[in-house]
Amino acid sequence: MKTGTICVQGGYTPGNGEPRQIPVIQSTTFKYATSEDMGKLFDLEAEGYFYSRLQNPTCDAVAAKIAALEGGVAAMLTSSGQAATFYSIFNIASAGDHVVSSASIYGGSFNLFSVTMKRMGIEFTFVSPDCTREELNAAFRPNTKAVFGETIANPALTVLDIEKFAEAAHSHGVPLIIDNTFATPVNCRPFEWGADIVTHSTTKYMDGHGAALGGCIVDSGNFDWSKYPERFPGLCTPDASYHGVTYTERFGKGAFITKATAQLMRDFGSMAAPQNAFLLNLGLESLHVRMKRHSENGLAVAKYLKNHPKVAWVRFAGLPGDPYHALAEKYLPNGVCGVVSFGVKGGRSAAEAFMKRLKIAAIETHVADARTCCLHPASSTHRQMNDRELEAAGVSPDLIRYSCGLEDAEDLIADIAQALEGVEA
Ligand SMILES: *Cc1c(COP(=O)(O)O)cnc(C)c1O
Repeated sequence: MKTGTICVQGGYTPGNGEPRQIPVIQSTTFKYATSEDMGKLFDLEAEGYFYSRLQNPTCDAVAAKIAALEGGVAAMLTSSGQAATFYSIFNIASAGDHVVSSASIYGGSFNLFSVTMKRMGIEFTFVSPDCTREELNAAFRPNTKAVFGETIANPALTVLDIEKFAEAAHSHGVPLIIDNTFATPVNCRPFEWGADIVTHSTTKYMDGHGAALGGCIVDSGNFDWSKYPERFPGLCTPDASYHGVTYTERFGKGAFITKATAQLMRDFGSMAAPQNAFLLNLGLESLHVRMKRHSENGLAVAKYLKNHPKVAWVRFAGLPGDPYHALAEKYLPNGVCGVVSFGVKGGRSAAEAFMKRLKIAAIETHVADARTCCLHPASSTHRQMNDRELEAAGVSPDLIRYSCGLEDAEDLIADIAQALEGVEA
């Protein structure tokens, strides 16, 4: 099936007389006739539901849709994108391990890696997404367990050369994890370019209506963990907390997601609520239609800004002349996304004056929504970074992140025009 059909119908096929829409199974627990029946579930010997912290049918149906959209073998919903990012790495790395990450990533991911996961004993080396193969190879250590990057980085809007990062990861025997939030599988499917694991903040385009926080991890099933049993003992040796199950032996291509569910969800409990999974699915049903409009609006706004005398610079990979245009043509041929970054002449203060004058676009700590919104990252999401870190993340102090919604491009442009008129360059 093509992407649009999966968006609408994937993950759930009702039988005769069953609900057409995915039912919300609003139940924490599930009933069994005998303790023996339930024991088999606890031993992972039988499949079934017993407690919604681990699995819930509504969440599983929506996860299956996202797995199909990405072309993966299995997926797990999480309560937020942050939880998905954390689990995707903590599932294979622990104290004493190391991860290579693109420096051009979401501010929340950067903080999670450089502060919180560092406290857990996991070290990260950040590399420029534009680094040479030599520089990338030099970042690896004997204890490296994964490589991480974003298809389109939030908010720097760099486009990752996924093949370059996948080749480096695989030549060192580790998987490439890609945060595909901004592109969505409608505009890019990282597995087709060698990525092994994909994460999402479904809070963004997938939900698309600013209604529900959420995240997702998808496994391609392509990375052969059992080739490196010493590097990935959690997947390749018996799990004492599950009566000695060895995930790769018992679950094959499903090993990564089964372990994330059975261990991480069990112990950390960042599960998606069934009601939120239901809302996410409503968003997914129109994702292919919306991404087209978001991407068209992004291009129209970027083109307008590019030619405006009061605008210092514009970053949008769909724009000819953008440093990432060639990578966008390769990885994002159907459109990039709706997010445009730019600077108004006059720096920080001009950015604030401009944003205050906007009437359609609201100032929000949000992005990738049906309603146009904008943000000044240096004073909000990225304020924990110093100037050097900001620069490495591709976030200049004057950067405005403008997220085109689904409105008419003419109205968005007229709003920007009147706001720029009142700004002193
Ligand atoms: C928002 C975002 C996240 C974090 O997601 P939450 O759902 O807010 O926890 C991770 N990665 C990217 C690219 C994001 O835009």
